Amino acid sequence: MNKISETLKTRYGLPEEVVFCKRCTLSNQRPTSTPEFINTPDRIIKTLHIDEEGVCDPCRYLEQKENINWDQREKELLFLLDTHRRNDGYYDCIVPGSGGKDSCYASHILKYKYGMHPLTVTWPPMIYTDIGWKNFRRWIDIGGFDNISFNYNGKIHSLLTKISIENLLHPFQPFILGQKNLAPKIAVKYNIPLVFYGENEAEYQNPIADNETSMRNRSFYAMKNLNEIFLGGVSVKELFEKYKLTLHDIQSYLPPDVPELEKTKVEVHYLGYYTKWTPQEAFYYATENCGFQVNPSRTEGTYTKYISLDDRIDGFNYYTMYIKFGLGRTTIESSQEIRNKHLTREEAVALVRRFDGEFPMQYFHEIMDFIGMKPDYFHELCDKFRPPHLWKKENGDWKLRHKIS
Ligand SMILES: [Zn+2]
Repeated sequence: MNKISETLKTRYGLPEEVVFCKRCTLSNQRPTSTPEFINTPDRIIKTLHIDEEGVCDPCRYLEQKENINWDQREKELLFLLDTHRRNDGYYDCIVPGSGGKDSCYASHILKYKYGMHPLTVTWPPMIYTDIGWKNFRRWIDIGGFDNISFNYNGKIHSLLTKISIENLLHPFQPFILGQKNLAPKIAVKYNIPLVFYGENEAEYQNPIADNETSMRNRSFYAMKNLNEIFLGGVSVKELFEKYKLTLHDIQSYLPPDVPELEKTKVEVHYLGYYTKWTPQEAFYYATENCGFQVNPSRTEGTYTKYISLDDRIDGFNYYTMYIKFGLGRTTIESSQEIRNKHLTREEAVALVRRFDGEFPMQYFHEIMDFIGMKPDYFHELCDKFRPPHLWKKENGDWKLRHKIS
């Protein structure tokens, strides 16, 4: 291999050639969602499909979405709800969430429009932002819901976050694991089999066929064997031996067992399958009905004020995606807003060029203190994870080789 092709090597199985969707701001470097507990440092990830006409799956799905018979879908929802609705005072569905616009919207329409009796369930942020904490309280106090918040062991959470950054440059993984697994576990413990999430991941990055079902694939939240689980890219065996953790320490990050889920007949549905979901409308609805408020200033790394506001580590989730895949927070958020016709592609491209990859400085030192990592070491890790086919160094600064236009 000669020197040039050596330096342009891809990583993580990303496609060598960077292709942007003609309609939105995503590129074929965008990973699809997969279960986090099989994520390892040498994994080959699957990425967004862009077809021969240059259009990505979420943009194609939008065409299909226009033709969906939403009245029919609502009938399907009513049938499902009627099957589960209880009138004995007990809960009949679970809505996981943090009090962001989407969980406000989902829980509120289920309770007040469809007459269900939801129990809301929260895997709290690692460190709430002020606005995140206020919105959480408003959801419960103004929206009017019972809530179980699981206050996990902060010492273990900070260690797992640190390990995830070191091995996967993925500071958000422990949160995602907890958030995806908590609701099905509570469903089992409280015997409330019906769980509703908001939108299907397929609307954003997964293969188009994933939209054809209302149910979340069980592989995302069920465990068959402890030996197949990795946290922060580290096997359970190694977590026990090298990091001296115990099963008790990590149990809240593990998915529920398949037999337990089957016994309770847990079903995890996407409400977005049954009702036409647009983030901006969920935002207006949450503002009106649950007192939801926006960030007082623009969120770092993007131009928006109302998306993913509750955790001080959120910005690092997007920043590390920018490092690994060349796609930051503005790219992700603007691609959705193009599809919802709130932005033109041209406007979005200008925003991406302006804000994408902006470093989330506001909470940087607090997060590093929390997980016990030196700020310089974090930057070193970022450089280690930059794929050569995406990044080049020019006059001492890292630059993306391919910019959206
Ligand atoms: Zn697209």
